[in-house]
Amino acid sequence: MITIKEYVMPKNIDKAYEYLISKKNSMIFGGGAFIRMGSKNIALGIDLSKANLRYINEQDNEIEIGAMATFGDIERSEILKRFSGGILSIAIKDIVGIQLRNIVTLGGTVYSRYGFSDLITALLALDAKVKLYKGGVRTLEEFLENGSKSKDILEKVIISKTDGFSVFKSMRNSKGDYAILNLAISKVDGKYRIAIGARPQRAIISSQAMDFLNKNQINDKAIEKASNILASETVFGSNPRGSSKYRHEISKVLFKRAIEEVMANEN
Ligand SMILES: Cc1cc2nc3c(=O)[nH]c(=O)nc-3n(C[C@H](O)[C@H](O)[C@H](O)COP(=O)(O)OP(=O)(O)OC[C@H]3O[C@@H](n4cnc5c(N)ncnc54)[C@H](O)[C@@H]3O)c2cc1C
Repeated sequence: MITIKEYVMPKNIDKAYEYLISKKNSMIFGGGAFIRMGSKNIALGIDLSKANLRYINEQDNEIEIGAMATFGDIERSEILKRFSGGILSIAIKDIVGIQLRNIVTLGGTVYSRYGFSDLITALLALDAKVKLYKGGVRTLEEFLENGSKSKDILEKVIISKTDGFSVFKSMRNSKGDYAILNLAISKVDGKYRIAIGARPQRAIISSQAMDFLNKNQINDKAIEKASNILASETVFGSNPRGSSKYRHEISKVLFKRAIEEVMANEN
């Protein structure tokens, strides 16, 4: 059961942060969908829904997605559908159902660095940055690795508006389940970037496979070699959804499907 002693809805992020550090047991609420699944005593619940963080803005060189943008907002955004093969909309469109996607937020997802996340894997392939209220702008890659040193609030995610194409693939037992594995590839200015997640640990970059792709002519042989490099450089774990051995094999399949789709887009 969750008990919340006091609940506030600050009008801006400055006030939200003030509240956050005012009590030991304070907690930020995004959509609240994940919080409600646990059991907690919360001294101060800080609901961000009135803090003007629900937006998707396109600027000359960047797209900014506010922390309170829901998965539904991302899925339906014309800006994001047009961007890089619509990877962000595609990565989340099958998560559970419309009602849940209209509740869960970008901020709750990215700040929590969930290993199973589909959105994080897609954002990592796009080399996104995060802006934390106190911690400033950091690459998502570094944030995933190190997290936040102190209590903070994720304000937005920033994506460079590059000309490129990206593909997201996942393997699930059933549509509403968490992914057994997910993988995303982006190609920008002739360079590939590969992210792999739900290992089931959090998403990482497949640097050796990427390096190989970026230095070699891409043909069937090279794809086969890159898939083996990717599978052997990645640490996979086991959980009730799949064993590390299964994930190792599936990674090669997802990689091949994704790279072939990226290449098909060029022809
Ligand atoms: C039943 C169910 C099934 C799901 N299936 C999938 C799936 O298949 N694939 C997938 O990718 N995801 C899945 N998710 C996860 C979902 O996509 C969200 O990642 C998750 O619910 C968190 O978003 P939220 O807005 O609900 O966060 P909340 O529940 O509001 O918060 C989660 C945590 O993040 C903190 N937080 C929230 N917002 C911020 C912020 N702006 N700054 C700092 N901290 C913050 C909270 O304090 C809390 O600790 C599922 C979730 C549920 C409930």
